[in-house]
Amino acid sequence: MALDIANRVRASLASFEPYDPAFTPCRINLSANENTREMPDGMLEQLKGAVAVVEFNRYPDPLANNLRDVLAARHGVERANIIVGNGGDELLFNTLFAFGGPGHSVVTAPPDFAEYANFAAQTETPVVQVWRDADTFALDADALVAAAKEAALVILTSPNNPTGGLVDQVLVGRLLGETNALILIDEAYVEFAGEDASVASWVPSNPRLIVLRTLSKAFGMAGLRVGYLVADPDVVAELSAVRQIYSVDVYAQAAAEVAVKAREQYAPIVADIRSERERLFGALAELDKVMAWPSSANFLLVRVPNAARVRQRLRDDYSILVRDFSAAPGLADCLRITVGTREENDAVLDALAALVGEDA
Ligand code: PMP
Repeated sequence: MALDIANRVRASLASFEPYDPAFTPCRINLSANENTREMPDGMLEQLKGAVAVVEFNRYPDPLANNLRDVLAARHGVERANIIVGNGGDELLFNTLFAFGGPGHSVVTAPPDFAEYANFAAQTETPVVQVWRDADTFALDADALVAAAKEAALVILTSPNNPTGGLVDQVLVGRLLGETNALILIDEAYVEFAGEDASVASWVPSNPRLIVLRTLSKAFGMAGLRVGYLVADPDVVAELSAVRQIYSVDVYAQAAAEVAVKAREQYAPIVADIRSERERLFGALAELDKVMAWPSSANFLLVRVPNAARVRQRLRDDYSILVRDFSAAPGLADCLRITVGTREENDAVLDALAALVGEDA
């Protein structure tokens, strides 16, 4: 007799399928907003030195307190203001797990990071979507404030993935001042916008503000799986109580400490990515039939005719991988291109010019 496993699964999880990053091995991979630059000089040796002395027969410190101290010093807050997770993803899930659920809705502003909707569905959290302007992707501040008044949680992304724009800090102030919701600002890409763009320094005087950061982007350590929140100690305490106890392993803790302590060494890499972003944006604007939105992150959203076909031909004819968003609501004919090295960006520009020239 068939076991019919699919019908035994919890109802809120029934329609889920494994996450597919749509990865194909390619010469140039600009599909996942990773940092494609080399690490700062000497960093790899330092990282190897740190992980070489780790005792892998021992469990990790569940709360990663040494790393919390390094992160707290970096943000000028207390250890109690920091929680570390297995990538930002784990912390997003746990935030919805802890503070969402039936009757505790979350407000989002799509098009945004698809995982918010997935984690909300998995945790049975009702979602109130306040859509961005269809052409500019600007946020509707009044509608967001109105929706937030009825919600448990608001998640806004700054800069936003995949549209690239920042959240106006005036809006963050309004959400904190005029509503009673927890306000999570996802700053996974904020280093590419500049330090002034972050609201992490607001946390000590705003107990309902939660700021998400990650080592996956500017620090170029997506494979390590380390993200963290800067938040009020009471928020951190609730999240600490529901987390997977050993989700951040000994290697990740040791390597992340080294990288965060040496964060100044990443500044030239980030500056170079920002300048390449502007060069790529300018060059894309020159291409016939291609439109790009300004971005404060390490990627650009572009609209091209027949985007799905263009993405496929970039992959198959040029061995260049970019992300296809053309099937996502509000993102018709959109591709997202991670800003790579100068050579990678030139390659994607030349290929795009050729493909739109021949109508893909
Ligand atoms: N937030 C946003 C907006 C992202 O794009 C990502 C990664 N794609 C994350 C959070 C999570 O990143 P990680 O789990 O690698 O820290």
